[in-house]
Amino acid sequence: MGYFNNLTETIGNTPMIVMNNITKNLPCKVYAKYETFNPGNSVKDRIGLKMVIDAEKKGLLKAGGTIIEGTSGNTGMGLAIAAISKGYKCIFVTTDKQSNEKIDILKAFGAEVIVCPTNVEAEDERSYYSVAKRLGEETENSWYVNQYDNSSNPQAHYESTGPEIWDQTDGKITHFVVGVGTGGTISGVGKYLKEQNPNIKVWGVDAYGSVLKKFHETGEFDTNEIYPYQVEGIGEDMLPENVDFKIIDGFTKVSDKDAALYCRKLLKEEGMFLGNSAGAAIKGVLQLEKEFNSDDLVVVLFHDHGSRYLKKIYNCLLYTSPSPRD
Ligand code: PMP
Repeated sequence: MGYFNNLTETIGNTPMIVMNNITKNLPCKVYAKYETFNPGNSVKDRIGLKMVIDAEKKGLLKAGGTIIEGTSGNTGMGLAIAAISKGYKCIFVTTDKQSNEKIDILKAFGAEVIVCPTNVEAEDERSYYSVAKRLGEETENSWYVNQYDNSSNPQAHYESTGPEIWDQTDGKITHFVVGVGTGGTISGVGKYLKEQNPNIKVWGVDAYGSVLKKFHETGEFDTNEIYPYQVEGIGEDMLPENVDFKIIDGFTKVSDKDAALYCRKLLKEEGMFLGNSAGAAIKGVLQLEKEFNSDDLVVVLFHDHGSRYLKKIYNCLLYTSPSPRD
């Protein structure tokens, strides 16, 4: 049939696109799994729908209920799309570092949005984690999603994103590189791919200011690693249950400045208008050059769309560098 019964049926089956310019000096092929083709323009539509369906099945989310979540924006949009199709209300708690565009979009979807300070510890009662959790306890007929520890998050990627990547590369993928926040994408996709071929290498892209890379390398949760940074969606100041450190072969860290500059390169050199975690992801691929050889096929996943960052990374006035081509 040539139609879908509602918008949620269009989630997934996103394109795989060859990178033609930005990675041309690498010895290997690089393909991009391009998640902005989802209806909410991000990979998070996949988990929004899956987490809602699973919560309904478990009896956690009931008719007329309110969905409550701490979100940097994209998960909120994914949840809102699912909520509208099923008649739920939404309250989203976010931080003051997220772009105004994201906050405005969540409001446009009809959600109540609460903005918390970024620069407080995860356990602090003012943090967006704590506020979302508390609202979940206080609000009648509500369900606190908790994408950090909710196993439906990686499961959505295990069931959809992972198999799509395997099929779209005819099983020839050798490396998967992706930004890590809750860990849902890397853990779900990584598990599926390694089950098909245990030789596939899975690399996470982390932010300076995040604990993930050092914890993976040393097992130490080093609070000295934690400080504010600009990139939205990747890096953590705590350890989400959904980061499956065992399936990750390594992390590379990308700076805020490089994430922004490489985002602008993606647009100028590939025509790809993407969010700053995509800039971090492609810079991460370039940093991993020594890992690749000429037979390799690297897949990098781009999480969200550039329109959400128009007044930040695409605002020339914010950056002192005269050109993104440096
Ligand atoms: N990039 C962006 C823009 C995101 O919103 C997220 C989600 N936090 C990520 C990357 C990281 O994805 P995940 O939470 O699945 O690790």
